[in-house]
Amino acid sequence: MSNPWLDVSIPLDNGMHGWPGDPPFFRAMHAGTAKGDVCNVSTLHLSSHAGTHMDSPFHFLPGTPTLDDIPFDAVIGPARVVPIKHRTAIGAAELKKLNLKKGERILFKTRNSTVSWKKPQFDRDFVYIAKDGAQYIADQGIQTVGVDYLSVGGFYKDGVATHHILLGARVWIIEGLNLSKIKPGEYDLLCLPIKLARGDGAPARCLLRKRS
Ligand SMILES: [Zn+2]
Repeated sequence: MSNPWLDVSIPLDNGMHGWPGDPPFFRAMHAGTAKGDVCNVSTLHLSSHAGTHMDSPFHFLPGTPTLDDIPFDAVIGPARVVPIKHRTAIGAAELKKLNLKKGERILFKTRNSTVSWKKPQFDRDFVYIAKDGAQYIADQGIQTVGVDYLSVGGFYKDGVATHHILLGARVWIIEGLNLSKIKPGEYDLLCLPIKLARGDGAPARCLLRKRS
């Protein structure tokens, strides 16, 4: 029997963490059986980067691929969850010890999974991919990179630079994973962003299954 699929997505819900300045996630019941309607229908108001989501190159780079162009191989297949010890940023020095291989799908488990998501509000001090780390990932030809909070770049530092480097190298980006229940190791990844036409980003359901 194969191992179970594990959900590493954040629930989309009112009050959830969101990027400061982006529209906050808001859901209202448009129709509801509780108020006598025949069915339940929600109205959603959200950013294309709400919760667990993916970024396309078009997020930062005009004229580049959008999320509806995503090659499915980027988000379906083997992936490696690697632990990051650094408390602030994922840098080239730590990445060099991981023996990254061309075409790999890599998900970084940092302290964000256990600390940032539990904070009452958006955590500005989340662990991010430093500029030199992003350049190393791009140079290694990594196919897909996943992080366990809302941006690959930092809030105070390397926000734009890290996105530019990764997206410029056509590394596909998954943001907003919750890896708190995931041990480092080899997994199958299944992560499908919704098909937002010309998407700069889109929420995704992401699953991992331990490879035995
Ligand atoms: Zn994003």
